[in-house]
Formats: sequence, structure tokens, C-alpha cells
Amino acid sequence: MKLYKTDALVLRNLSRGDIDQLLVLFSLEYGKLKVMAHGSRKITSRKRGAVQPLTLTRFLIHKGRYLDSVRQCEELESFPELFLRMDRICYASYAVELIENSTVEGEANQVLFAVLVETLRQLGRGDPEIIARAFALKLITLVGYKPVLDLCAKCRKNLTGKALAFSPPAGGFLCADCARENSENQMVMCHRGTLETIKLMLAWELSKLGQLKVDSGTRGELYYVLKLHLEYHLGYRCATEMFIDKLRNRNNRYNTKS
Ligand SMILES: [Zn+2]
Repeated sequence: MKLYKTDALVLRNLSRGDIDQLLVLFSLEYGKLKVMAHGSRKITSRKRGAVQPLTLTRFLIHKGRYLDSVRQCEELESFPELFLRMDRICYASYAVELIENSTVEGEANQVLFAVLVETLRQLGRGDPEIIARAFALKLITLVGYKPVLDLCAKCRKNLTGKALAFSPPAGGFLCADCARENSENQMVMCHRGTLETIKLMLAWELSKLGQLKVDSGTRGELYYVLKLHLEYHLGYRCATEMFIDKLRNRNNRYNTKS
């Protein structure tokens, strides 16, 4: 009998039949995994709590011929603060979606695993939008698409001046001269504060970033920088981000009316 143990965060659970679920996990030892949890939808199932999305669980898994299945599981940590506010749960879903779409099944990334777990803890404590942006930047870096931040990504000169641009095809920030030449390509105009905030987000621990004060202009530029960079390098549009956009636009409309 082939059994293996792993600690994993449940990214998604999909119903299969009346009582089973297919789990998508991000595990410490094996990266992304898909496993069956037989009987886990039964009201009386002991597995029920431990297989919920956004739960950190210790699994004992049986290696199957086609699909592995959960033999035992024990909840290690849930993140109850996430469920108290809509913005926290939205950004937690954003983090989980990015993990699912940027990692390969069976490839472990222990640093990214630790960053994801810490992100879920900090989303319940600090500014969720800032924690989520910092998570996305750390993820991009850990999967190999760290943006060029210290020099112009095109001409390699120092980034002087206040007005800069960010170009995903060039792989990072551009000086004002290269931004003018690059104007027909995908690009976001940015002020220096956005570049400095990105550097802080990559250098600081998430626990410290939750208290970082970021003005609305920088938040807007961070949103576009990350959206374009993720879309360009991961090749897909984040559905949760689109949902958050719709929610924000609806709230702004109501706020304007009142
Ligand atoms: Zn340049």
C-alpha cells in the first residue's frame, strides 16, 4: 500500500456524485495536487471541516493508479478572520486563484507555500488590498517573472526622474525616454512612489506590510501594473480580480449617489 503524508492548503473542492469531492491542494512537499476525498460531503464525515477551501490540513493520501485519494486528514489551521469581511475573503480567493494558475502539479515550491499561508494570516489582520498586492509581487518573483526595478528594463540606465512607466513585455520599469519610444506597446504610466512601494513590498515581511500607508493614486497604479504583468506572463485574466472590480464599481456608484 502506497501512502504519503503532506501538509496542504485546500484551494478548491468540487462535488463528485452525492458524497465525494475532488480537492485541489497546494501542498508543502508536492506543490499542486488533485485528490479525491471519498465520503467527505456526508454530514457525519470526519473529513468535512478539513477539506473546506482556505483550510490548512495535514493529509494522509493513498497513491492510486489514476487519482490519489485522502485516507485521513486533520485540520491544522483555519483562517476565521477572512470570513468576517467581504474584502478579506475576496483577496484570499484572489491569492488562491493566482496559486492555482501559476503553479504546476507535482512541483514543490516551499517558499511560495509559506508565503501563501502567511498571506492568509495577514489578510485577516492588515490592509487586505495591500497584502494581496504584496502577495502577487512575491508570487511573480518566486515563479520567475520578477520585474526589473533597479534600472530601465530597456536601456539599462538608472531610473531617474519622477515620471516612469511599467512595461510587461520589457519586463519592468522604463525611464521617461524609453516610455516615449514604447508608447504603442502595453504600458502603465507610473510615478516614482509606485516603484518604491513595489520595492518595499518585495523586501518587507507581510506582517509589516499590513500597516503600510499607501495613497489611492499608488494603489491604482499598483493595480494596473500587476494586472498587466500577470496577464502578460501567466497568460490569463484573474476572474476574482474582475469580480472585485465589479464590486468596487458598484460600491463607488452607490457612494456617489448617496
Ligand atoms: Zn530607458
